[in-house]
Amino acid sequence: MPTDVILRTETGEPLNARVEVDDRGLVIHSRSGTDRNRDYRQAVEMILVRLDAAKVRYDVHLDSRPVQDQPLASRRLNFPHGGPIAERFNILVRAMNAGSSSNGAWRRILITSTGVSPTALAALVANSPAATARPIGRLPHAALRRVTHEHVDRAVRRLLAGEDAPSFDPSRDFDLLTPDGERLAPKKVFGLALEEALTIDARPEHFTAGLGTPCFRILEAAGYPIIRKDETIPGSGIEPMDPDLAAAEGERKLVAHLRRERKPALAAAKRRAVIAELGYLQCERCGLTPSQALGPHGDAVIEIHHAGTRVADMAAGHITRLADLMCLCANCHRIVHREIRGGAAST
Ligand SMILES: [Zn+2]
Repeated sequence: MPTDVILRTETGEPLNARVEVDDRGLVIHSRSGTDRNRDYRQAVEMILVRLDAAKVRYDVHLDSRPVQDQPLASRRLNFPHGGPIAERFNILVRAMNAGSSSNGAWRRILITSTGVSPTALAALVANSPAATARPIGRLPHAALRRVTHEHVDRAVRRLLAGEDAPSFDPSRDFDLLTPDGERLAPKKVFGLALEEALTIDARPEHFTAGLGTPCFRILEAAGYPIIRKDETIPGSGIEPMDPDLAAAEGERKLVAHLRRERKPALAAAKRRAVIAELGYLQCERCGLTPSQALGPHGDAVIEIHHAGTRVADMAAGHITRLADLMCLCANCHRIVHREIRGGAAST
């Protein structure tokens, strides 16, 4: 006699998805019409994620009426047991529709395990305590944006202190650069920050990393530029220096400050953020859009100015946020530094 398994979201709402346990395993009923088993996808993803978390070996079989008489082995669906859950679900749907005229139907499936009894499977997917605080699948961008600069700072400090975020793999393509030039895996940093921001058990499938993603943009806005693994920092982290500033402060002191605070990587992150927002670079003082006014290489006149605390006045450990940086054309940058010198001289 089949029994219903009630799956709930992390807020305790029951899913609209009929899941039964019978003497073979878990049966997830098909989705059809506008409302019948509307949460099929969420239910399937939740079940797979929870079985994966419990390290249970399982198989998924097509169980729709026309094939029910066929032996189980012949209706086993091929899909990967690792990787992002959303991709795995899509592969599963393609497999369950193979050979039919439909390509997107969400059909009745049966999940079996050779090592775990059907009732134990049901208990695992319905009551996993770890799963209660673990949202399933991608989180909305609004949730990711609850990560603040301070969450990112603490995540960086924890990783630098030797903690790990073991759910997240080491980075493959990109590194996050700390103010001292240490490199960390961006996804580990963001995962830890997200855990604290949302008080959840953060998982790799909750967000994507990569150039232009909210993950990278939030990390860079907090002042942690992201660079390609194979990228070396040109000129030992010193960006081209303003001659007035060099004259004012003395070259040795200046170079030390620039090395610490003015990484070209941070300047590159600022340029990326402005282009992502406006579509082009612009001088924040005079409004010049050099790519329009000065031709295809016009952006070369845009320099990055530290608009907050003077670099020379920064306490050790100060973290420059992208919001502390300004895009200025070379003329305005020169004038702003002359103004700063003038102001300091008159006091
Ligand atoms: Zn300007």
